[in-house]
Amino acid sequence: MRQKRSKSYKKQMLVYKNTFKFRLPYQIICDEHIIEETYTKRYNLLNNLNKILQPNIIHASNGSKQETDEASLNPKKTLKLFVTQCSMQHIYETKNEDLIEFVKYNFERRRCNHDYKDPKTSEDCIFSITNVTGKKDENEVIKNINNMVIGTNKHKYIICTQDINLRRKLRRVPGVPIVHFMNSNVLLLEPISDTSKQYSENFESQKLTHGLNDSKNAGFKRSVEQMNNSAAPTETPLPVIKKKSTNNPNPLSVKKKVAKVPVHEKNEETKSESTEPAKKKRKRVRSKKNSSATSEDKEDDKTLKADTSA
Ligand SMILES: [Zn+2]
Repeated sequence: MRQKRSKSYKKQMLVYKNTFKFRLPYQIICDEHIIEETYTKRYNLLNNLNKILQPNIIHASNGSKQETDEASLNPKKTLKLFVTQCSMQHIYETKNEDLIEFVKYNFERRRCNHDYKDPKTSEDCIFSITNVTGKKDENEVIKNINNMVIGTNKHKYIICTQDINLRRKLRRVPGVPIVHFMNSNVLLLEPISDTSKQYSENFESQKLTHGLNDSKNAGFKRSVEQMNNSAAPTETPLPVIKKKSTNNPNPLSVKKKVAKVPVHEKNEETKSESTEPAKKKRKRVRSKKNSSATSEDKEDDKTLKADTSA
């Protein structure tokens, strides 16, 4: 059962990595309820998140030294736990000094730019920093039934929250991994939301239509925009191919050198049967007999050439 779950988590996290471009370290936003729960139960949140999110497995095959280095795969480096200013304010309100110290020690503060004197609920605070809507796109973005503007999880946050309302809202934003407690001591990664699934399917089909033939599009760091502008990337590989072809003459020239030796030998063999060596032989023979008979030599040469050409 546990293995099955771990496999499905791995599948999900690969979608977040490949489609939504999640990178290490993962930034995990925890609401105050999760934090309090882990504190009171002495629950090892970091280690359990590591088992669920599996950053070492998801990113190990990337090839980059930083990610394959064992030390950097330590969950303390691959997972960053954050608490928003508003959630921290709620924790201060508990006046539980030990809890406050625990949070200060284990969680980094995430600026949300909400007024600390009037902190927002964790639902509103976390949703506002996760669902990033650029103002320029206001007319283009999808508005749902509640007329809520849906943006993107621009900062690639993973949200750890017990708040059911927040979870419902986050499911409408594509690419938000949601983690929560089940039965108060089992940490779960929610199944990928329908919105994220839809986005992922569109992403995959776009990859198909924008040139699966182009091997560069296969699962590497290329946004949809980059794939649309396929002119630039196709120009670059051409000189690379040309360079390769200019490198080719080297092995060819080596081949020539190798070929020259037998050619010479062959030439000498054939020549010995025909013109030049024949001359020399005859010259030597003549020179022994008569060194001054140059005119005869020439005549003989002429006849010899005529013989060989014939
Ligand atoms: Zn806030």
